[in-house]
Amino acid sequence: MDGRPRILVIEDEPAIADTLLYALRTEGFAPEWCGTGREGLARLATEKIALVVLDVGLPDGSGFDFCKEIRQRSAIPVLFLTARNSELDRVLGLEIGGDDYLVKPFSPRELTARVKAVLRRTGTAGVAVPVPAAPLPAAADTEWRVDDERCRISFRGRALELTRYEFRLLRVLVGRPGRVFTREQLMSAAWEEPEASLDRTVDAHIKTLRAKLRAAVPDADPIQTHRGLGYSLREAGAAGP
Ligand code: CA
Repeated sequence: MDGRPRILVIEDEPAIADTLLYALRTEGFAPEWCGTGREGLARLATEKIALVVLDVGLPDGSGFDFCKEIRQRSAIPVLFLTARNSELDRVLGLEIGGDDYLVKPFSPRELTARVKAVLRRTGTAGVAVPVPAAPLPAAADTEWRVDDERCRISFRGRALELTRYEFRLLRVLVGRPGRVFTREQLMSAAWEEPEASLDRTVDAHIKTLRAKLRAAVPDADPIQTHRGLGYSLREAGAAGP
């Protein structure tokens, strides 16, 4: 078995399925396809799948009902494909247990972005999700401590109280000290729905992050602004302002 995350696409329209499989393969996933909910459930029972892309309108039943069946035995992430906005209310209802959704028509790029975001968020065990952040370099180890499992970050020994977006933003920066990230890169790395966010959302979170870092270590200002470009984390040992 190679390390590519296996994605099960349950979708009855072959043309849509083809497009999805191609897009997922291009992004480094190992997609599989089945056209009915029953077949999908059978595959889930026997194969190690990282995430399910589940059409709501299937020939042998509703994707909602299949999701409920899946939830009875597994916490595997489920991304719904819905044909109508009117189905959205149900997708968003907590009782279904889906992790995200896309309304048709959507672009293949949107789908792969969502799949990656859901896998990152759910931290599916044993799956190598393409994440922009690299392992922390040894030199920065005493400066920053990242606990990915608990979503915590410490700066110079002081634990930071971070919201989930602040954690994700800072995690990206800490992973590559010195590298300048554009707002767009930060959004796509940290947000589940990058296209729904605005540049100033990144700015707002950077602002609160800076305030928290200042509260933890008053004389440090580790996040640098690059006018017209974006943000970076000051490299360890580099002089402060
Ligand atoms: Ca369908």
